[in-house]
Amino acid sequence: MIRSEVNRNELSPMMLQYMEIKDKYLDTLLFYRIGDFYELFFEDSEIASRELELTLTGKNAGLKERVPMCGVPHHSAKSYIEKLVEKGYKVAIVEQVEDPKTAKGMVKREVVEVVTKGTMVDLEFLNDKDFNYIASLEDLQYTYLITYIDISTGEVNSCYINHEENELVNELLNLNVKEVVITNDFPLEVLNVLKNNYNINISIEDNVLDNMYQSIYEDVEDERIIYGIKHLLYYLHIVQLKDLSHLSHVNIVKKDKYLEMDVHTIRNLELIETLRLKERKFSLIWLLDKTKTAMGARMLKYYLMNPLKDIKEINQRYDYIDSLNKNFMLRDELMADLYEVYDLERLCGKVTCGSLNARDVLQIKNSLKVLPDVTRIIEELGYKLKLNDHTELYNLLEEAIYEEPPITVKEGYLIKDGYNKELDELKEIRKGGKNFISSIEEQLKQETGINNLKVGYNKVFGYYIEITKGQIANVPENLNWERRQTLTNAERYISPELKEKEALILNAEEKIIELEYNLFTEIRERIKKEIFKLKETARILAELDVLCSLSIVSEEHHLVRPTLTEKRIIDIENGSHPVVEVVSNNQYIKNDIKMDENTNTLLITGPNMSGKSTYMRQLAVTVIMAQMGSFVPADKAVLPIFDKIFTRIGASDDLVSGESTFMVEMIEAKNALVGSTDKSLVLFDELGRGTATFDGMSLARAILEYISEKVKCKTLFSTHYHELTDLDKRIPTIKNVHVEAREEDGNVVFLHKIMDGAVDKSYGIHVAKLAGLPDEVLQNARAILNVYEDNSKKKRNEMHIEQISMDFDTKKDELKEFIEQIDPLNTTPIEAINLLYKIKEIEKKEKM
Ligand code: ADP
Repeated sequence: MIRSEVNRNELSPMMLQYMEIKDKYLDTLLFYRIGDFYELFFEDSEIASRELELTLTGKNAGLKERVPMCGVPHHSAKSYIEKLVEKGYKVAIVEQVEDPKTAKGMVKREVVEVVTKGTMVDLEFLNDKDFNYIASLEDLQYTYLITYIDISTGEVNSCYINHEENELVNELLNLNVKEVVITNDFPLEVLNVLKNNYNINISIEDNVLDNMYQSIYEDVEDERIIYGIKHLLYYLHIVQLKDLSHLSHVNIVKKDKYLEMDVHTIRNLELIETLRLKERKFSLIWLLDKTKTAMGARMLKYYLMNPLKDIKEINQRYDYIDSLNKNFMLRDELMADLYEVYDLERLCGKVTCGSLNARDVLQIKNSLKVLPDVTRIIEELGYKLKLNDHTELYNLLEEAIYEEPPITVKEGYLIKDGYNKELDELKEIRKGGKNFISSIEEQLKQETGINNLKVGYNKVFGYYIEITKGQIANVPENLNWERRQTLTNAERYISPELKEKEALILNAEEKIIELEYNLFTEIRERIKKEIFKLKETARILAELDVLCSLSIVSEEHHLVRPTLTEKRIIDIENGSHPVVEVVSNNQYIKNDIKMDENTNTLLITGPNMSGKSTYMRQLAVTVIMAQMGSFVPADKAVLPIFDKIFTRIGASDDLVSGESTFMVEMIEAKNALVGSTDKSLVLFDELGRGTATFDGMSLARAILEYISEKVKCKTLFSTHYHELTDLDKRIPTIKNVHVEAREEDGNVVFLHKIMDGAVDKSYGIHVAKLAGLPDEVLQNARAILNVYEDNSKKKRNEMHIEQISMDFDTKKDELKEFIEQIDPLNTTPIEAINLLYKIKEIEKKEKM
């Protein structure tokens, strides 16, 4: 049965109410509260029953047929909602907003919250080591503006990026944004990739929220940034009904403050996860993360994704690590303190926009407990950080919150004895109930002289007095007892005094729960007042956690403090790739990387599997570690500050367009050529491999020349085109290095050692042998290779480009003129090949 086709005149009042609410929340699954259940109807119920494996039933709603329905108990709804949200659905929660006992007619119901991927706050369901961003995008024609918020921590950011689709997608993926809000006129095609390939929610909203939460953007002058924030706030506050009073002042991200890395670089270098298995294990962050808190783990990720460019700031981090390394006892004490700290940032988020329970408050308290000790330690370390110790709040929580509270805040047992006088009195009365029976029994026995008189309690009659049949005559009349129940051997009575006491005891329980809830709410408000200070404290603790982690890593992996220089020098001695080193069980062969001011490019040759790509990654990872403020894996490291890193390494995974591998390779190469400056680092691994040999080689050569002579960035360029290695003779900024391999008894031995100069042997067949290819194939390959090598020697003599140009210089005028017109830097590969043919043609003509 389809919702939109139902005749509403026939519907029951409750289902009509459902329809009216659902009309406003068409793109959500509506969890509709009825008693102790949330029920879903029509198409919603079909989706939910399929996704959650619930039984699809029906409900009478006034129509001839039953309306399709499924439901979940309200107390376990959270995990069902989480599952749907994780799968990309939006869930709207409809509650009864009136007490059914006092409501006149239909109980009023309203949507109280909308939950989506980008706006979850529950600690249980969030990845504690990652941010949870929702972003709004504004297309400003010449630039994009991204506003992104992590509701769970209250962090608000704004940043401009170039008006390039690739860059936009790149940025959203780097930030790991879960949900995107756009206006109606935003070009959706750009984002379809995000939706289809990365399961990112896209919502459309045109309105902005005026005059609320202005503190987020007060003092901001840029109207466009304010607009972006208001746009996202509307979606969060009006559409999703979130309380946002914990959101911090916007942080306007200046991208040029940080080392720029595109999403390929982050993936290829396996900074956050490995390429193949997409796992954290064996990624760089896995190696660096020794943090004790979730906040620290998130900040470490932030450091890693945003390496700095300011030498002073980076050196400050080195200084902090240095001091932790020297004072390792203090570091251990600090880490022990941090171990006691909970996710204060997200607890702060829960104070306003989630449901902070007493257990959460205890976690806040326990986190604050260590602050005086942390203050002492950072003073002893001489750090310039200023930590608030929140003594007053801590004392309040220590006095007020019961140590073993339940999860819900509506069952009592939240508040300690001695915190509130009225509460203590009520508890005294409640306790009285148990003693009451025995004391009143004694008293009545004496008054009546009936020795076997009993006082008891049952649910139907409450407290009663029981008199055996034989003693009934002895009940004094002046006591005003009322007979309530007749048993075979006894009569049960109630007395006014008993009823009075009973009311007091039973009321006490209700009153206690209510009072405890009110007191707890007051405490929550008190925490809310201090929320921004708490968040600042959380930030400092996270920073300390990161520094301790980097210090521990520097010790465990014998890292060295880099020397940063203004000169364009790279001087790494005995460096390694820290992750490969761990994976290889410390069998890593250490290597120097040396590039003086005049060397722009290292052209790396060597057999497959010899370690060319690892060598390149080693440099990039070292640079990123250095600029994030970490020590680096080497005996000595002198490094300049880089502004950008581009990599073209390994298998390309195409993020956006579905282009062929070679096309992606060329796009990435273009990005590097166009985007890099003389302060950038570029890694090109086997460029040109994806196309025919001559095509690829011509391209590789043209790109090499361009990048080394024109862009002048530092480049590592690995190649199996040995023909390229003579370029160093013509272009002095190119230097040849090679990875050593040795042939022993027909087998290749990889030494993984980088040496000066080029090699002229690729050992491809040796590698194939290692891979276990059948002997017959290998023998055949060797024979073919010999023929090729002979031919190629002859050809080389004829065709060597350098030679061609020298010969023509002296002898052939037509050719000379022709060649003079060629501008290699502005020649496309296809044109290059055509030119080559043309040269051959002219040469043939002249010979004749
Ligand atoms: P290439 O790029 O030349 O094909 P790779 O860099 O992919 O080679 O390295 C091939 C293998 O050799 C990898 O398994 C890597 O772990 C290992 N390797 C590379 N460099 C070293 C080194 N310096 N020390 C030890 N093992 C290394």
